[in-house]
Order: sequence, then C-alpha cells, then structure tokens
Amino acid sequence: MSSSLEGYRAVTGNEIVDQLYQLAKPLKGIRVLHVNSTKEGGGVAEILRKMVPLMEGLGIDAQWEVISGDSDFFECTKGFHNSLQGKQVTPSDELLRHYQEVNSENADKLRPLLEEADVVFIHDPQPLTMIQHVPKRKGKWVWRCHIDVSKPHRPVWRYLKPWVEQYDASVFSLASFAKPLNHPQFLITPSIDPLSEKNMNLPKKEVDRVFEKFRIDRERPVILQVSRFDRFKDPIGVIEAYRLVKKMVPLQLILAGGGASDDPEGMAVLEEVKHAAAGDPDIHILHLPPDAHLTINALQRGADVVLQKSTKEGFGLTVTEAMWKGKPVIGGDTGGIRVQVYNHYTGFLVRSPEGAALRIRYLLHREDKRREMGERAKRLVRENFLITHHLRGYLALMINLLKGGDYHRIEVGV
Ligand code: UDP
Repeated sequence: MSSSLEGYRAVTGNEIVDQLYQLAKPLKGIRVLHVNSTKEGGGVAEILRKMVPLMEGLGIDAQWEVISGDSDFFECTKGFHNSLQGKQVTPSDELLRHYQEVNSENADKLRPLLEEADVVFIHDPQPLTMIQHVPKRKGKWVWRCHIDVSKPHRPVWRYLKPWVEQYDASVFSLASFAKPLNHPQFLITPSIDPLSEKNMNLPKKEVDRVFEKFRIDRERPVILQVSRFDRFKDPIGVIEAYRLVKKMVPLQLILAGGGASDDPEGMAVLEEVKHAAAGDPDIHILHLPPDAHLTINALQRGADVVLQKSTKEGFGLTVTEAMWKGKPVIGGDTGGIRVQVYNHYTGFLVRSPEGAALRIRYLLHREDKRREMGERAKRLVRENFLITHHLRGYLALMINLLKGGDYHRIEVGV
C-alpha cells in the first residue's frame, strides 16, 4: 500500500484508489520517464510535481527530467506555443535550426534514461524532436500535448507533425484537440491534487492573513484571476471587465501570477498589464514567486468571484483550482474551460469584457447563486478532475501500450 495514495481515500472515495492499485499491478517495476521544459510555473510542472511521486508510490520507477535551453530556444518554442494555439506566426529558419540543435544536445544529456525507459512521456513541443536523436530507444514514446491545438497555424503544425508521428501514441486533453495522425490518440484530462498546498483546506485565519499581507480590503468585493502573464489569458480584458463593473460596484481586482522559465514573454505582458492598470489603487498586480501555493490557495478561497478570461486554454488548472474551492468561475468560452465551466450551471462562459462584466455583477449580487453554482463546481471537479482520475488514465494508457490492452493480466497476483 502506498501511504501517499492512502491519504486520497478520504477525499476521492475508496473505489478509485482501489482501481489504481489494481491497474498498477502489471506495471510494477517499469521505468517511466517524464520530460518537460520547466520545473516550475504553469500547469505541466504543477501536475508532474505530484504525478511522479504517486507513480513511484505504486511501484513504478518514475522519473522527471527537465530539458535546458537558452533564450533563443524558448523564443522559438513560445512561438510554437502561440502558433499552435492559432496565432499566425512561424519561427525563423535560424530559430528552427537552433531548436533542433538544443533538442539534440538534450538528447545527449539524457541518453541513458531515454534509451532505457519503458515509457517516455514527452510533454508539449519543447522537447518534441529529441525522439529523432534516440534511435536505440527501447520503450514506448508518448507525446503529451497540453495546449489547444484545435486550430493551429498550419505551417507550424506541418513542420512539427513528422516528429509527432515518430511517437507510439499521443495524448490530448480534449477530443476537439485530436488530429489526423498515424498512431493511437488518447484523451486524458489534466487534474489538480486536492491534498497539495495549493488546494488543501485552509483555516479562515490563513486566508485573512494573506489578504492583510497584500492590503486588500475585505469589506469590498474582490475579483481574482490567477495566471502566468500571457496574452492568451487576456489580463487586459479582465481589467476592462473590472472597469465596467467598477462604475457601479466598489470593486477590487487581483491579478496574481508569476512567470515560467520556459515563457520568455511574461515580463513584457506584465509591463502591459501594469500600464493598463496604472493609477488605480484597487487593481492589485501580484507578481508571485513560483512556490506561492498557499498564497494562491488563500486568494482563490477569499475572492468573491474568480475569472479565467482566456481566449485560448489547453485546460485551465486555475479554473479547476477555483472550482474545487467552491467558486463558480467566469471563464473564456474556449478549449478546456468549456469542459469545466458549464454555462449557468458551474459558472459562466464569456466572449468579451462586456459579457464578463455582466456575469461579475450578477454573481456579486446573488450570493445564493454563487453558493449553488460553487457547490456544483466542486462536485464536478471531485468526480472528474482530481489527480487520481488522471493517474488512472496514464496507467490504463501504459497497459494499453505495453501489454496491448490485455487487461486480463491485471488479474495476475490478485
Ligand atoms: N500558477 C502558479 N503561480 C502563478 C501562476 C500560476 O502557481 O503565478 C499555477 C496555477 O495555480 C496553476 C498552474 O500554475 O496550477 C497554471 O496552469 P493552467 O493550466 O491554468 O495554465 P498554464 O500556465 O499551464 O497555461
């Protein structure tokens, strides 16, 4: 029995935890390697921090490695990120050459691990092309795409697709992100860890302490968006919505976020946000360090209304986190937000600052609705988007790839 997994029974119920032990039996001792491009900041790091120890707790020899790259490399991969989410830009040939070189260097550094692992999960486009430099790989390689690739800028998708097709399988977060590919595609939604610092229950005095620390007035309503400073998260649109509501309600806005080491645009976007907010003491821009999990937890619990006004969103863990805290979220009508925010039921989907403003006013005036929708939101997360469900998806995928989906072997040793 894994003590780390036992703690989940009280939150998720027994059944899913028992399923995890059962599914892990045929996978005991296999070597699994996750590779991404940042240790902190953003949803992928947030997930791997817990997923890897939980796999280890189930007897899987799991490891997490982070590739390294310089600013040109990350400029190129941020370009991929933007263009895969629909922006009409293509990195220059020089940046593309550099991207390939850096992947080749990282493959050299990680070679023994990459060659020996039974399953390698490569997360997102940054480490994607390492695969071509590991011809002696013995395991199955899976490309785990976390971003919204439903309508990519075609030239960039055409450029990357041949490497994606060297993999044994790929994983997308939503059906609408799946692509015509030559290999099996799995749908696995991301998740939050209900026991982490970011999501565990907090006493009221801890929430109060955080609000006091940032000098936020608890007597007046507070709206919040937590996000990396990224244009797809539309922080400027949030400020516009806030200003529309502020004409009628004495509102405060918190925009809380840090950077991710693989996101070179963060500082520029932060400056744009500061400029847009200039002169308004009720807009609190909190530039947080990467380990500010308790702070974010407290802000999400203490806010009256939570927004995630993204214009593209692979999934939106910040939405899941707020919903887990019983908050209805006002979210951009896009990507992964749509599978979490059921319009008028667990929150509201919006397409403009005006739409967001309308819903902010409604929720601020209707405490009964906030509570009712928030309860449904929490239930939806409990049933679908906790790390236990996510882990189950990965175990089933590995059985499928390594054992041809022969689930009867799960019975061995029962
Ligand atoms: N996050 C954080 N600090 C920040 C901003 C974000 O810890 O300053 C966390 C946030 O709580 C969430 C994750 O990073 O767990 C962001 O995941 P999401 O899927 O919302 O967006 P991504 O950044 O991956 O696009």
